Amino acid sequence: MKRIVVLGAGFGGLQATVELEKKFRGSNDIEILLVNDQNYFMFTPLLPQIVSSYIDPRHIVQPVRDIRGKRRFAFLRDTVESIDVNARRVNVTSGALPYDYLIFSIGSQTEYFKIPGARENSLDLKSLENGVVLRDHILDLCEHADHISDPAERKRLLTFVVVGGGYTGVELISEMRDFLFRYVVGRYRGIHRGEMRLVLIEASANVLGGVDPLLRPYATNRLHQEGIEVRLNSPVTRVAEEVVELKNGDHIESATIVWAAGVRAHALAEALPGPHDRIGRASVNASLQLANHPEVFVVGDSASAATAPDAPRVAPVAMTQGTIAARNIVHLERNEPLESYEYVSKGMLVSLGMNDAVVSVGGLRLHGYFAWLFWNAVHLYKLVGFKKQVQVALDWAMGTLFPRDASIIRQPRACRICEAKRAAPTVFV
Ligand SMILES: Cc1cc2nc3c(=O)[nH]c(=O)nc-3n(C[C@H](O)[C@H](O)[C@H](O)COP(=O)(O)OP(=O)(O)OC[C@H]3O[C@@H](n4cnc5c(N)ncnc54)[C@H](O)[C@@H]3O)c2cc1C
Repeated sequence: MKRIVVLGAGFGGLQATVELEKKFRGSNDIEILLVNDQNYFMFTPLLPQIVSSYIDPRHIVQPVRDIRGKRRFAFLRDTVESIDVNARRVNVTSGALPYDYLIFSIGSQTEYFKIPGARENSLDLKSLENGVVLRDHILDLCEHADHISDPAERKRLLTFVVVGGGYTGVELISEMRDFLFRYVVGRYRGIHRGEMRLVLIEASANVLGGVDPLLRPYATNRLHQEGIEVRLNSPVTRVAEEVVELKNGDHIESATIVWAAGVRAHALAEALPGPHDRIGRASVNASLQLANHPEVFVVGDSASAATAPDAPRVAPVAMTQGTIAARNIVHLERNEPLESYEYVSKGMLVSLGMNDAVVSVGGLRLHGYFAWLFWNAVHLYKLVGFKKQVQVALDWAMGTLFPRDASIIRQPRACRICEAKRAAPTVFV
């Protein structure tokens, strides 16, 4: 019996597992084990809509056991702590897992570029929990700002900063704007729209660096028109508690600083032997194998393939690589030639909040309402499972017809910034 272990039930790992299952159907001498630290798959493109209360958090995740259905692969919810590629063993919290083949798809982590204070003093948007914490944090601040009279304090509470003008930063600040301008204004009678300041900070000369250059000016103008302050050419040099410092000497005080400025490979990927690229991704050959370890495949955000070292860290890349890694394991078993990964862009879709988006797919370039409809249709189609598709479609319909839900569902202590405020309660009297 040979064992294939797949690490990570995200876009790459899940795709690889499903492909392995298909190819080895009926092979009783192959065992497939999927390992993930959560018992669900998360559809990250809809995470910003958790922050704006547009979608219920549970609707963008799908339990792995539901996805598995009647498939026979085994699933282990556990945390990978280290990998010993020489001994062909993965160490998880509950013990050791020997393998014959390994597919590594553990994703990425936030990159803070060694900027002092950035990690300690900002919020993150990588996990479902991050999304819920940020949503509750914003609501918590609004609850306080609603009845505070000190102008300086109100300004600090009602200034929202997102660092990073890539697609995550742009989608997030657009969702925050929808939530604050469409819902908070009106419901919170002590808060006025003119008091709220939303700032998007980008180090380079453009937002949406990965999108068609022809669509970038449209996106930038729309952000401005919708009341978002876009600070281009503004590298952050330090983040202190509730203060962002820019290279030009400006300081922005804000109780909400979200870091969406960078991504680097997961620490476990950086610990794999062999060369790595500048953001820690393991360098793999065209067949996605690790040097000197043809039984180890690395895919997704943690891989830098020789044939496409600059491939973006997006879901379609992870899924295609997951499929190729799985097929190459089948080829190895059958002594067939291996397949190579080639990057083919599937385009880019970026939501600019309610009724607006930019889309660049093949020769098609769209912006505005029809682009937004296209964005919605594609994301609904890509969601895993009919039940989730229905739930998200209903959330969108309800979010259009009714006010969004502003109940704070977690104790703010889950958020270290809220926690700091609790330690100094005079801030809110
Ligand atoms: C907010 C946000 C929005 C995004 N929007 C888009 C978008 O619109 N379009 C797009 O194409 N891409 C988008 N992406 C990027 C996309 O999510 C990634 O490129 C993709 O998920 C990479 O797939 P992966 O398989 O490498 O990793 P992931 O999908 O991140 O999967 C990694 C898995 O490993 C698990 N894991 C982590 N550590 C451990 C551990 N120690 N032990 C066990 N399991 C572990 C995680 O729980 C996760 O399930 C977005 C990302 C974010 C954060």
